[in-house]
Amino acid sequence: MLKKILIANRGEIAVRVIRACRELGIKTVAVYSTADKNALHAMLADEAVCIGGAQSKDSYLNVRAIISACEITGAEAIHPGFGFLSENPAFARMCEKCGIVFIGPRATSIEMLGDKAQAKETMKENGVPVIMGSDGAISNIHAAKTLSRDLGYPVLVKASAGGGGRGIRIVHNEDELEPQMKAARQEALACFGNDEVYIEKFIENPKHIEIQILADNYGDVIYLGERDCSMQRRNQKVLEEAPSPAPFMTQELREKMGRAAVTAARVCGYRNAGTIEFLVDKNGDFYFMEMNTRIQVEHPITEAVTGIDLVKQQLLIASGERLSIKQEDVKLTGHAIECRINAEDPMKDFRPSPGKINTMFIPGGFGVRVDTAAYPGYEIPPYYDSMIGKLIVHGKDRDEAIAKMNWALAEFIVDGVATNVDFQLKLIRRPEFIAGDYDNGFLNRTDILADERGEG
Ligand code: ADP
Ligand code: ADP
Ligand code: MG
Repeated sequence: MLKKILIANRGEIAVRVIRACRELGIKTVAVYSTADKNALHAMLADEAVCIGGAQSKDSYLNVRAIISACEITGAEAIHPGFGFLSENPAFARMCEKCGIVFIGPRATSIEMLGDKAQAKETMKENGVPVIMGSDGAISNIHAAKTLSRDLGYPVLVKASAGGGGRGIRIVHNEDELEPQMKAARQEALACFGNDEVYIEKFIENPKHIEIQILADNYGDVIYLGERDCSMQRRNQKVLEEAPSPAPFMTQELREKMGRAAVTAARVCGYRNAGTIEFLVDKNGDFYFMEMNTRIQVEHPITEAVTGIDLVKQQLLIASGERLSIKQEDVKLTGHAIECRINAEDPMKDFRPSPGKINTMFIPGGFGVRVDTAAYPGYEIPPYYDSMIGKLIVHGKDRDEAIAKMNWALAEFIVDGVATNVDFQLKLIRRPEFIAGDYDNGFLNRTDILADERGEG
């Protein structure tokens, strides 16, 4: 069993990992930037090392400083959390070279799956259905035109190295193709340092349904049901639920997708926790979109319905233990919903609103969980993601979960900075959400705040 690990992250996910380590008797080392000296993760860990300046590139992306902190403190392993270095194969390889356990998949798997165009090819070859589009990356505009005509507009141009909803452009007709390809390339280069793009048929109003898997070092792979992440704004997740609401989701579809996810993981020699993202169209046909080779933001809803602590599983797998859970042991109980709580102003186009939290009230109670690193008096730095917490509820069924989310959001108080708490409350009161009848396009079609603007 691992004895001491370093957490190369910040915010609620760093705190989440520290708590799992406490339960397993693993000592923790936090790393923090100069902007994070009062951050909760740095206070809660057994040791904390300042690794550089406020900008991510100087601290949370500073590989040299992180590896040094590991060596100085004698940590045997690194948990990368999500974002930052979590899906960086060079970092995983560096850990491997330095004899540090990377709590995640092998560098080769990250590499294979991090190139999304290449990953699709691999899946296709192995019988996992993929969205129609270019064979790998595409750069020639004539070839792109011919392909798009064959696919039929609209099509999407997507960054091969993409993540976090960035580097994606929709193209409605041939005139838009060249400028949109250029725009996607530029954004991809700026965000990911790689301007490769690929083209995909745009699926009209699909659902985003992803499957959580766990894989050990000995070839055992299990799936832990699905999460419905169709509630998205600008291709970014806002609210997630598990399981995906019936009647769209059926036990048959769940099992089919689960088996496809296990195949996807197997063909890349995957180990540790991972998520296979699929788009599902109106007919219930599903297509592999990408695999996220890390723990995900929305992992707690899967924990709620399966009773399995995913972060502890990551630590056990990285310690070299065999999976003790068999596929037939995985039972889904009740219904869970997560609302992402962001420091942002929905009335100002969701502009981030860093600053000092004066007072804060966090709801609790039966079936309510809040993962956050914020506290009264905490100053949210402007340098990082605007997500300050996650409110997760678990009820015996979907109606009960929605009822819990209603009171929990209503009790949630964050004073001092703008948040999306009221937006989330309005969202879960929409008849479409209550009916479980929404797809990826819902938030683009619907102005949740119309009444607030006096347009309702
Ligand atoms: P999830 O599927 O876990 O919701 P997201 O796509 O929302 O994943 O990303 C989780 C976090 O990681 C977010 O903070 C997002 O900004 C960040 N992120 C995702 N992909 C990348 C990437 N390639 N580079 C930098 N940050 C990323
Ligand atoms: P990222 O790596 O940024 O998470 P994804 O490939 O997972 O990118 O796509 C992000 C989101 O964009 C999806 O959840 C979905 O809403 C939308 N999307 C991606 N590909 C398609 C497609 N071919 N058709 C329709 N929507 C898509
Ligand atoms: Mg994605």
